[in-house]
Amino acid sequence: MLRFLTTFGDLWQLLVGARRFSRRGWEWANDLNDLSKVMTNDRPTIFALSSGRPPAAVAVVRICGPQAGRALEKLIGRVPPPRQAALARVREPASGEVIDEALALWFPSPRSETGENMAELQLHGGHAVVAAVLETLSAIEGCRLAEPGEFTRRAFANGRLDLTEVEGLADLIAAETPAQRRQAYRQLKGLIGDRAEAWRKQIIEALALVEARIDFADEADVPEDLVGPALHAAQQLRSMIAAALADGGRGERLREGIVVAIAGPPNAGKSTLLNRLARREAAIVSPYPGTTRDVIEVHLDLGGYPVTLLDTAGIRISDDPVEQEGVRRASTRAALADLVLWVIDGSAAGGAAGDIDENLFKSDVWLIRNKADLAVDRLGINCESASASWSKEFTLSASVGTGMEGLIEALAGYAHGYFSVTESALVTRARHRQALEETVAALDRALAQDTSGNEELIAEELRSAATTLGRLTGRVDVEDILDVIFRDFCIGK
Ligand code: GDP
Repeated sequence: MLRFLTTFGDLWQLLVGARRFSRRGWEWANDLNDLSKVMTNDRPTIFALSSGRPPAAVAVVRICGPQAGRALEKLIGRVPPPRQAALARVREPASGEVIDEALALWFPSPRSETGENMAELQLHGGHAVVAAVLETLSAIEGCRLAEPGEFTRRAFANGRLDLTEVEGLADLIAAETPAQRRQAYRQLKGLIGDRAEAWRKQIIEALALVEARIDFADEADVPEDLVGPALHAAQQLRSMIAAALADGGRGERLREGIVVAIAGPPNAGKSTLLNRLARREAAIVSPYPGTTRDVIEVHLDLGGYPVTLLDTAGIRISDDPVEQEGVRRASTRAALADLVLWVIDGSAAGGAAGDIDENLFKSDVWLIRNKADLAVDRLGINCESASASWSKEFTLSASVGTGMEGLIEALAGYAHGYFSVTESALVTRARHRQALEETVAALDRALAQDTSGNEELIAEELRSAATTLGRLTGRVDVEDILDVIFRDFCIGK
């Protein structure tokens, strides 16, 4: 019969169907799947104001847990039909006094965001209304105020979201630009999580073949060459994961924004330019050289893409230790930036390009000739020595505003060019990158084994690769990273 089984998939089906391939592999795979399913009945019921700070037009209070239905009965005297908005009077249970009129929603387990019973009240968003409802809820036995991110943590614990989706949700809430929003939404919908899970399953399938070889080495109807197809599958997976990693880190960058450093000699107008770009007074503008002693950061949305703008201290040689530290930090940040705007005072007689730190030229550098409102006829002085290093040049007046449109347009074009190739980057966090790199390393170690006689070692490395992918989605052994991931959430999410 085995003669007719030509593909890896056929073999897998046979082995799964017969449930003979490997007791260890089978049990292990099932353990992983069960880890995220947690019993929910003995949990406290949590509640929180999930909408923004009052006063507001509407306030949303969410309740989640075994007492959610009882809480609704206490507050509005009934539990509305599932998933239908019901208009209801919210009363203080002891006195019967009406607190507010609200829309009430009921999402029974398991078809709710967290997988547990959930209730939602849409109230008028006044301080006193919200305070009275929260106070009433806290008086119900088994109910308490939720901790930051606790609703989402329950969704994770109940298998409604995997860890990458939780991170996507956090990013969606934090997204400041359309490109960040799109990336976060894709991650929330399982772009990396589903892929990692599919890869993990394929590794487990390959592992099962190797273990079948180990467990049934002596049996006649188990084919000799199970390890070959397993390693072939591992090789293909390795290539796919490596391709996902070869994205230049742009998914992570989209979360944080590309970094544009404004650098150049003191008093050239860097802070003025930053303020002009940010359209607010983010940096201190002063006529005295050396005022900006630290790195000031401003986040901008340029053409829909996130850009972090840095105003660096005037980069120059100084005896003042405080200013020296400012210069050191400025040089370090500027060296790591994607783009440097090197600003010079284009009007000064004998104005110079400044003492340029060679490190800056690892990034793209644009020359900004500032103060075009002064002595325009003297612009263009003294930059020839380094002119080969500028990829673009602008002449403008940061204080008056002339010439700014050209620079803003070029910056938006730069951000677009940087990100447009990364619309569907899989890896958006260092945590993902590390997990995928460890998976590739484990697969490499498996592939490096001589196929005959080293089945145990191959199985061990494949198991390690699957475990690392399991950590990425939160299927295995992730207690230590949960706090880090959930602490960024607000209360009520
Ligand atoms: P920084 O040390 O490079 O950050 O320079 P600042 O932004 O603090 O500016 C130094 C001085 O130059 C201030 O007095 C600014 O008002 C002035 N300045 C900046 N940009 C312009 C400009 O475009 N035209 C003129 N005339 N003055 C400017």
